[in-house]
Amino acid sequence: MIDLKGKVAIVTGATRGIGLEISRVLASRGCDLAMLDIQLGDGSSISEVAKDFGVVAKGYACDVSNTEAVEAVFKQIIADFGKVSVLVNNAGITRDALLMRMKDDEFDSVIAVNLRSVFVCTRAISRHMMGNRAGRIINMASINGIRCQAGQANYAASKAGVIGITKSNAMEFASRGVTVNAIAPGFIRTAMTEKLPAEAVAKYTAAIPLQSMGSPRDVANAVAFLASDEAAYITGQVLGVDGGLNS
Ligand code: NAP
Repeated sequence: MIDLKGKVAIVTGATRGIGLEISRVLASRGCDLAMLDIQLGDGSSISEVAKDFGVVAKGYACDVSNTEAVEAVFKQIIADFGKVSVLVNNAGITRDALLMRMKDDEFDSVIAVNLRSVFVCTRAISRHMMGNRAGRIINMASINGIRCQAGQANYAASKAGVIGITKSNAMEFASRGVTVNAIAPGFIRTAMTEKLPAEAVAKYTAAIPLQSMGSPRDVANAVAFLASDEAAYITGQVLGVDGGLNS
């Protein structure tokens, strides 16, 4: 049984989709949570996590592509909780377009939210974790950073970049007991994939060896494992959660 009692995790993009499920699964293992999102809505997803699992869960409104905002919020979280054991860099967006039609802003915003945020958030917590000589950083990559799709030059570049920064940071932090790994989800049932046309969903699903789309829970279970003491000897890795699609 994975036991995360006594740990504190920051999860970005935490109020819906995969990020919310990651928060719920970590909380179900006893982890306290700082749930970051660009908008917190009415805060009900955060209060439900606290109520359902009896952990401390606080919400923080923050645009992860804004360096000053991230640095201020991370300082606040360390002050509020006293320590941070796990950082899950999950927030991400898509702005798909064929390359010839892709606007500069569509390229830049995806790089800023999906990749630059990993740099900014990791830098904001690195001194704290290295000082504690303990920490887990888990970055959300994608199968589309490995086996890429047309119309996703921005997204594919951002997720390939997430894999690169994961491996570099793993080497940099290893001597201080901080592990850095990435998860590469395949085709997961969320709002992000609901935007796709039904024919595309059918085509992609038919190509998955396990014959079905994944769920946010499948991704969250992998995060819980990488956050646990049982994963202490794993760093610099990319764990595919894709039903065998990238085999
Ligand atoms: P999602 O349902 O769209 O959720 C993403 C969350 O991130 C939302 O709460 C969103 O807030 C938030 N967010 C967006 N921009 C932000 C910013 N600048 N600062 C802070 N938070 C921000 O996406 P998802 O499907 O759960 O995906 C989560 C992660 O998994 C992403 O990194 C994605 O690339 C990756 N992934 C997903 C799949 C899949 O099949 N779904 C596959 C591979 C990888 P708003 O709702 O307000 O925009």
